[in-house]
Amino acid sequence: KKPQARKGSMADVPKELMHEIENFEKIFTVPSESLQAVTKHFITELEKGLSKKGGNIPMIPGWVMDFPTGKESGDFLAIDLGGTNLRVVLVKLGGDRTFDTTQSKYKLPDAMRTTQNPDELWEFIADSLKTFINEQFPQGISEPIPLGFTFSFPASQNKINEGVLQRWTKGFDIPNIENHDVVPMLQKQITKRDIPIEVVALINDTTGTLVASYYTDPETKMGVIFGTGVNGAYYDVCSEIEKLQGKLSDDIPSSAPMAINCEYGSFDNEHVVLPRTKYDVTIDEESPRPGQQTFEKMSSGYYLGEILRLALIDMYKQGFIFKNQDLSKFDKPFVMDTSYPAKIEEDPFENLEDTDDLFQNEFGINTTVQERKLIRRLCELIGTRAARLSVCGIAAICQKRGYKTGHIAADGSVYNRYPGFKEKAANALRDIYGWTQASLDDYPIKIVPAEDGSGAGAAVIAALAGKRIAEGKS
Ligand code: BGC
Ligand code: MG
Repeated sequence: KKPQARKGSMADVPKELMHEIENFEKIFTVPSESLQAVTKHFITELEKGLSKKGGNIPMIPGWVMDFPTGKESGDFLAIDLGGTNLRVVLVKLGGDRTFDTTQSKYKLPDAMRTTQNPDELWEFIADSLKTFINEQFPQGISEPIPLGFTFSFPASQNKINEGVLQRWTKGFDIPNIENHDVVPMLQKQITKRDIPIEVVALINDTTGTLVASYYTDPETKMGVIFGTGVNGAYYDVCSEIEKLQGKLSDDIPSSAPMAINCEYGSFDNEHVVLPRTKYDVTIDEESPRPGQQTFEKMSSGYYLGEILRLALIDMYKQGFIFKNQDLSKFDKPFVMDTSYPAKIEEDPFENLEDTDDLFQNEFGINTTVQERKLIRRLCELIGTRAARLSVCGIAAICQKRGYKTGHIAADGSVYNRYPGFKEKAANALRDIYGWTQASLDDYPIKIVPAEDGSGAGAAVIAALAGKRIAEGKS
């Protein structure tokens, strides 16, 4: 096998298949005008979320009410639950805009996402934490270590060390946790194991990303995740947050900043503006939480492989592809995670031999070159749509806040690993604004790789929380 030109020509694709490809191009392409319309509606929805009455987008105050100075220092623990792994991190904040981390990852057992016993989740986290502590502190711990808990789900907070889960997202579905504060559930299992750790802050991954990046770069305007889920956080001003009226103690000036975890994955649950395909409708209907996370279901990593799979099954059922093939291994929801379309887009061979191997080895399906060209084109379309739609949240926040320049700190598996995503996202932002700069390095609002949000970010937030308590502030 010899790598050849990356893009295969469509010249040899038969007419009937070409017709299908053109149809996919039609339904998955989001032109600049549509992005602008989506952004406009997005701004209205963000505002609604901040109002007393509330709206679709939760806009959750995160009770991080200070900008980090960069001088925060000390040792902290951080854990991160929300994607495919549980991460445990020991963070040493240097006090000079630098930090060091030591971390371990523990693979979340597959069944854990939907276990029927909620205790199992907290026991798993506390056990992992204990393993980590025993490794890092073989002599034991003399003073309790503060821990920042990055819990990447919509959780309501009336204070920094609280998080009432509104609803699971990203395929998680564990009973008896929704509508409960998760902090005591975790703390109980930690205490049971006799580890001197106190959960001092509950943090959304986007808020952690915002704060970690601000700690090293004060040009940071937002923390965003393009990963298993999508979401963003930014600093608003208390006086602009109508729903906080009556909830702030008197010592807090109305000009105080407040980090907001938008939870904008739920944008357009009312189906006003997003160009949904029949595959998006199926994904939603078959998910554990139909009607929720409409925006996320079209753009985040948890769903991209499944959108591709549904489109292929549809083509198969109509007799266009995989003729006379046994699809029993393929005809199962979520057998393709986002690494599949990513690998297919990265296939360097003119005749897409890597894709050939992938379908054969993983699903026992033999594909023709023409079929693989269709598959590859579909991946490009689905990945491009995700990149283009997902920056509408960024444009909406920046326009709402009046930011003309700045850095948007981004993290997540799709941002970091999906081929071409960074460039497509930057260019979609350009299309929304109509920027004319030639290079994405010159765009006034730049999406940049984030600092370690669930490590350093959680630690800085824990430090800020500790400082507020020491100063007697609420
Ligand atoms: C969650 C958010 C999270 C995002 C990225 C979404 O499903 O609701 O809390 O920030 O995923 O991890
Ligand atoms: Mg994560």
